[in-house]
Amino acid sequence: MADLKPFLIARAGRLLPRAMIVGAAGLSAFAVAHASLPDGNHPLREPAPAARAVAPPVAKDGEVLVYFLEPVPGHAVVSPFGLRKLPWEGGGRLHEGVDISADAGVPVRAAANGVVVDAGTRGGYGRFVEVRHAEGLTTLYAHLGGIERDVKPGMVVQAGDRLGRVGSTGSSTGPHLHFEIRDGVDRPLNPALFLGKAFAEAGDLPLDKARRYSGRVRIAQVSYIPESKRALMAARDAQTIVVRRRTSDAQDLAAAERNLEGQVREAARNEQIDGLQSLAIGPDGRPRAKLSFQ
Ligand SMILES: [Zn+2]
Repeated sequence: MADLKPFLIARAGRLLPRAMIVGAAGLSAFAVAHASLPDGNHPLREPAPAARAVAPPVAKDGEVLVYFLEPVPGHAVVSPFGLRKLPWEGGGRLHEGVDISADAGVPVRAAANGVVVDAGTRGGYGRFVEVRHAEGLTTLYAHLGGIERDVKPGMVVQAGDRLGRVGSTGSSTGPHLHFEIRDGVDRPLNPALFLGKAFAEAGDLPLDKARRYSGRVRIAQVSYIPESKRALMAARDAQTIVVRRRTSDAQDLAAAERNLEGQVREAARNEQIDGLQSLAIGPDGRPRAKLSFQ
């Protein structure tokens, strides 16, 4: 029989009262979640254990600092962490998390024990929840269709607790979860090195390895582009034509194109499209996109 201690920690943690705390107080409450566990029950908690498709991983010696479960158990990662090139960009751009394909409405669960530090709406992320864990690690759950009513900054959560529902809010081309793990200084980490794993102490966390990514840029075929991205593409085409017509000198043209690249990169930075694998202009002159999920 495997050591049940991590599981017992999780079960005991479920008995924590729903603490509402902010800032430093939130962090100390998180420490409490790992150490002393007061009695009590919270009626808002769903009967989650039966819904958990993944059991907590067990560290080699049974001692666990932090463990990570899949945020949408049983659903596949369709777009990994790493460089991804959008056609209007000069080069690859880091996809700072993973995309997990699931239907709208499927529950999104906390990947690890922690404290909610932010929840709301933010730009391309759409509706999101951010949770802080041991060693300053944070997880972020984006494009949510909805956030559980009681999920607010300061709330203590256990791995597997329901945070919200899969959706397609923000810059998203279809229902999926964009999931990130970041280190204590906000650098993105490859979630693949954490999910399904338990870590006994800080030194076991694969922080250096998880920051690295291949120089290979993923590009793929194209089938659909949202209306707003078509406008971006059309604007770029129009600018390119104007630049070519107005510039007689080759040097000016190169400078103008560099400037345009900069503008396009800036636009793309504000236009995070998850699931988009590639984009190209078809024979009819219209842009076509290929998504990693449909
Ligand atoms: Zn994503």
